[in-house]
Amino acid sequence: MMRLPWFDYRAPASALEAARILAAEGPDAMVIAGGTDLLPNMKRRQQTPHTLVSLRRVQALKRFSDEQAGVTLGAGLTLTQIVRSDRLRQAYRGLWQAAAQVATVHLRNAATLGGNLCLDTRCNYYNQNLEWRKAIDFCMKKDGETCWVATASKRCVAVSSTDCAPALIALDARVRLASADGEREVPLADLYLNDGMHYLARRPDEILTEVALPASDGWRSTYWKLRRRGSFDFPVLGVACAVKLAGNGSVERARIVLGAVASRPVLTDAGERLAGKPLTDDAIAQAAADVASRAKPMDNTDLDLYWRKRVVGEFVGYALRELRGDDMDAVRLRIAKQVL
Ligand SMILES: Cc1cc2nc3c(=O)[nH]c(=O)nc-3n(C[C@H](O)[C@H](O)[C@H](O)COP(=O)(O)OP(=O)(O)OC[C@H]3O[C@@H](n4cnc5c(N)ncnc54)[C@H](O)[C@@H]3O)c2cc1C
Repeated sequence: MMRLPWFDYRAPASALEAARILAAEGPDAMVIAGGTDLLPNMKRRQQTPHTLVSLRRVQALKRFSDEQAGVTLGAGLTLTQIVRSDRLRQAYRGLWQAAAQVATVHLRNAATLGGNLCLDTRCNYYNQNLEWRKAIDFCMKKDGETCWVATASKRCVAVSSTDCAPALIALDARVRLASADGEREVPLADLYLNDGMHYLARRPDEILTEVALPASDGWRSTYWKLRRRGSFDFPVLGVACAVKLAGNGSVERARIVLGAVASRPVLTDAGERLAGKPLTDDAIAQAAADVASRAKPMDNTDLDLYWRKRVVGEFVGYALRELRGDDMDAVRLRIAKQVL
C-alpha cells in the first residue's frame, strides 16, 4: 500500500488568508482543492509539499454568477456542479462536454475546476510509483536529470492533460489569480507554458480564484476527447472548437484548441483562417489538415504516436461538422464505446 508522506495541513476560510500562508511557507507549500490528483501524486512521491493549504472552507471560491456580460465560475466549483448546470450545458457546451468526460462520477464530485486547470503534466516516465522511477534513475521532471522521452531535450516534455483548459481557451476564458500582494487577471491561454516542469505562469504564492467567460452571444462550442477507455481515462487528445457564424452561414470567428499534444494546451491559428468562409466539407478538410500538420505529440502517453497525430485531423473534422449542425451523435457513441 502506498502511504502519504507527512505534511502540515492548513484550512483557512478565505482566499487572502490562504495566499498569506502560501507566501509565508514558500514554494514547499501547495494548494489542495479536491485532492484527486495531488494526493495520488504525493503517495507516489511525485509531489512532496511540506504544507498543504486547503481551499475546502473558502466559500467565495464556490460562486457561480451569471450576468449579461457572461458567467463567472469560482475555482472551487466541483466538476459535478459544472456538469449539473443546464446553463453551461446550453450556452457553453464545449466546457460542459469536457467536464463531463473528466475521470469518474466519484472523482468529479470532489474534483474542482481550479484543480483541473492547474493539473500537473503527465508522462509515461513520471506517472509511475517511486520504485519504478528509481529503477530508471528518475527523470528530469522529478529527482532525475534526463528526459527519457527525448534524451537530448533540455526541457521536460510531459503533457498537459487537463480536459477543461482547451475547452475554456476555445471559449476565450480569463482567469483571476490572487496573492497576498493583490490580484491579476490573464487570458487562460496565457496561464500555460510549454514546459512540462514549469507548466503554469502562476507564481507558487498565487491562487486561481475564478474563471470568467464572455457572453455566449451566438458562439457554439464542442469538445472531442480521445482516450483508451470510454468509461474514464485521461485524454491522449482533446480537440476544443468554438465557432461564431454570420447570418449568411460563413464563419465570423473561430477558435480551435488542442489538448494533450504538448506541455500546454495549443491554441492554433486555424480558426482565424476559417474566418469569412462557409463551413463546407472542403473548408473543414483544409482546417483539419492544417491543424494535424502542426500537432506534434510526443511518444510519452498512451497509444501510438503516429496514429494519434493522424487522429487530430479526424477529430477537428468531427468537431467542425458538429458545429455546422451535422448530427454527430452516432460518431460520438462509436468513439465512446470503443476500447482502443
Ligand atoms: C483515475 C483518475 C482519472 C482522472 N481522469 C482525468 C481526466 O480524464 N481528465 C482530467 O482532466 N483529469 C483527470 N484526472 C485528474 C483530476 O481528477 C482532475 O483533473 C481534477 O479536476 C483535479 O481537481 P482537484 O480539485 O482534485 O485538484 P487537486 O488534486 O486538489 O490539485 C491539482 C493541482 O492543482 C493545484 N490547485 C488546485 N486548485 C488550485 C487553485 N484554486 N489555485 C491554484 N492551484 C490550484 C494543486 O496545487 C495541484 O497542483 C483524473 C484523476 C484520477 C485519479
